[in-house]
Amino acid sequence: MKVVTLAGDGIGPEIMQQAIRVLEYIVDTHGLSLTHHAYAFGGAAIEAKGMPLPKETLQACQEADAVLLAAIGGPKWQDATQTPEQGLLALRKSLSLFANIRPVKVSEQLVDFSPLKASIVKGTDLVVVRELTSGVYFGTPSYQKEQEAVDTNYYHVDEIKRIVRYAFELAKIRRQKVCAVDKANVLATSRLWRKVVAEIALEYPECEVTYQYVDSAAMEVIKNPTRFDVIVTENLFGDILSDETSVLPGSLGVLPSASHGTGVSLYEPIHGSAPDIAGLNQANPISMILSVAMMLRESFGQQEIATRLEYACDQALATCRTPDLAGKATTTEVTDAVLAAYKKEN
Ligand code: ATP
Ligand code: MG
Repeated sequence: MKVVTLAGDGIGPEIMQQAIRVLEYIVDTHGLSLTHHAYAFGGAAIEAKGMPLPKETLQACQEADAVLLAAIGGPKWQDATQTPEQGLLALRKSLSLFANIRPVKVSEQLVDFSPLKASIVKGTDLVVVRELTSGVYFGTPSYQKEQEAVDTNYYHVDEIKRIVRYAFELAKIRRQKVCAVDKANVLATSRLWRKVVAEIALEYPECEVTYQYVDSAAMEVIKNPTRFDVIVTENLFGDILSDETSVLPGSLGVLPSASHGTGVSLYEPIHGSAPDIAGLNQANPISMILSVAMMLRESFGQQEIATRLEYACDQALATCRTPDLAGKATTTEVTDAVLAAYKKEN
């Protein structure tokens, strides 16, 4: 089994180094046949190879069993003709990553750290399933003129079916609840989504289905987040809702994500390259380590190891925190604590 690692920019290399430490420990401990290979990507690849997604990087990703990405981008490339973000879009497109999965679990340790009341966030454990390759971000025509501008929200029924099915499969192994978020009172695309959700729901009688308008869902995810299990929604609504839900634990540094397509999957923290703290050994490595856990579970079927690693992250957070969580620990120390907790769990 082959993992391609893309460290990228800013804090990317620091947190990737920690992820690799954890991965190597797990591989050694459990005798997994899993190798990892680093490739240039993002701003780092623009510097080294003159482009954000070099051919050999793309090829390695296409041939890998999973791709682990840390973070890309930074002020240096903001106005450049070639940007790290172009590389990420091209990679997502080449791997046909249509499902973006963002679990938001508020650790018991962080309940008091959340900007929201503890009584509201306690027990939050939801997943936003966002369609990633269609909708208004990709529909044509899309143009801007002096006096008018147009974007097109387009969905083919097959694009809706595959993401909705993904959401139900996920709900089946979680708490069997799917909330379809849309704007069916005004949008034709949303009405088609509802029709598809209702049809696919018939195949999953064990799952409870609710439909909610996005404006009301946006309020409810921060007023009553524990109500949700799996939220499934189109590209634009998912973009906004997943960023909104990421405030629940109080730091971007603790949330992982996965993107699935028809082939290889990509795992990455939800945050950016955090150039303001790059190179200081201050970045929170938890989001990156939890991305490793998601990879082990979803690409390699290592359910038990993944759960144990998630639990170890939780244990580490009880005593050892980086500055984003008002702690004084370094990136390395938090990883040490995660590994120590993992070892204890034998
Ligand atoms: P992007 O546009 O790439 O998503 P962004 O502008 O949203 O990036 P981030 O890079 O995610 O911004 O950083 C936002 C803030 O959160 C910064 O102050 C950054 O230092 C902080 N931050 C992000 N990730 C971490 C982390 N892992 N540990 C600590 N702080 C972080
Ligand atoms: Mg951002």
